[in-house]
Amino acid sequence: MDISCTVQEVMLLERIGETADRLGVSCFVIGGFVRDKILGRATKDADIVCTGDGIELAKAVAETFPHKPHVNFFKNFGTAQFKLNGFDIEFVGARKESYSPESRKPDVLPGTLEEDQLRRDFTINALAITLNKENFGKLVDPFNGMDDLQYGIIRTPLDPDITFSDDPLRMMRAIRFASQLGFTIVPETFEAITRNCARLKIISQERTTDELNKIMACPKPSVGLELLFKSGLLKEFFPQMTDLAGVDILDGQGHKDNFYHTLKVIDNTAERSENLWLRWAALMHDIGKPATKRYENGHGWTFHGHEVVGEKMTPRIFKQLKLPQNEHMKYVAKLVSLHLRPISLTKEDITDSAMRRLLFDAGDDLEDLMILCESDITSKNRLKVKRYLENFEMVKLRLREVEEKDNIRNWQPPISGDEIMKLFNLTPSREVGVLKTTIREAILDGQIANTYDAAMELLIEKAQTLNLHPVSPSGLKNTD
Ligand code: ATP
Ligand code: MG
Repeated sequence: MDISCTVQEVMLLERIGETADRLGVSCFVIGGFVRDKILGRATKDADIVCTGDGIELAKAVAETFPHKPHVNFFKNFGTAQFKLNGFDIEFVGARKESYSPESRKPDVLPGTLEEDQLRRDFTINALAITLNKENFGKLVDPFNGMDDLQYGIIRTPLDPDITFSDDPLRMMRAIRFASQLGFTIVPETFEAITRNCARLKIISQERTTDELNKIMACPKPSVGLELLFKSGLLKEFFPQMTDLAGVDILDGQGHKDNFYHTLKVIDNTAERSENLWLRWAALMHDIGKPATKRYENGHGWTFHGHEVVGEKMTPRIFKQLKLPQNEHMKYVAKLVSLHLRPISLTKEDITDSAMRRLLFDAGDDLEDLMILCESDITSKNRLKVKRYLENFEMVKLRLREVEEKDNIRNWQPPISGDEIMKLFNLTPSREVGVLKTTIREAILDGQIANTYDAAMELLIEKAQTLNLHPVSPSGLKNTD
């Protein structure tokens, strides 16, 4: 078999084969490593399968290295693993499996190589290469995986209804590989996914989302997302996204299909950035549209406030999909809430204060927000696209000018909440919020100067209207 392994990889595989010879077992490298080597993709791990005890083989191979790498093993699963210079090698005895309908946890019994290959998900993932000296490098390919690799085809080695019903995660994997490798799922296999999609519910959301994120990380995520949609899988775990699909027509007026628009925005974002969470912001940017859709006589279709609804939906959807509830989620919610703002700044006669406000609200995420907004232009009219992009360039220029002048992006108002509480002897409360906001808004609007004294004067004035008085005049800072 002629695949481009490095010298170190060949030496490692030979060493495994020699050790297997010593133990009297047959041994193969199998699955993703073989597939990716043939395709010329990078590999960072290899799966070794032997007819016998995988743990024993792993330990014996590790022993042959002077530094004797530490072997992790799981007796219950019969698997073992160690690392060499960051490269992960996993060992397992060849096995056959039988499944029960309620779970994806199979009964596992020792088996032959062919039985082991049969339980693999796709023909392109079932290729094995012999490592024993006698046949070193010989390809074992009982399901024509090589042809499928060459023609870019994804199909299951068994009846696909059985493969997918046994382990429904394989449906997500089929679409993920189609998306990552640019392969086509054969109709018979794809139809089996549409028939079995409801089985996905026995898979933990973490695993499903893991596959979804691998699709999101592809150069063109729309390929996988559209397949998820068409197969029915997407609706199983993310109905809010499939709710975006479709067009209503009233009085001869339609609106764009927000599902396909969203896919285009994700692809546009992916062309501009590798940041997974920015791609998630693209996915979520219009998620509030179905809930806010109205038909207004004389205006046509409107989606007023969809950015606010979308922002609110973000934490719930992240929870549902078991995505992190941390700063990534907040970042996505923030970009969703701000995604219309730069457009409003493309109008004429925009004041500096509107610019300052966006600088303040977007902070360090301003560049990402601008990428999202540029990606949101999906018109087919090239002239329109050009004009919109030029408008955004103008906005960026103005934002840069205002930022240079006012330095507002990481700005904090001159009087803090702590200071306000001390001054008026308040505990954290609504009043503190009102006072803080009053100062911030007045400065951002350019009504008062961005100085301590001006802020203090306004603070005292506003406090009086709330019937609040400083505890002692000495509480005031002397700025002379
Ligand atoms: P990647 O590493 O890019 O995720 P991979 O194909 O190597 O892709 P792994 O999860 O590393 O995927 O699995 C290694 C091999 O184990 C696969 O190539 C396949 O042969 C087999 N395999 C993994 N998951 C499944 C599954 N759910 N059902 C059947 N076989 C599987
Ligand atoms: Mg792998």
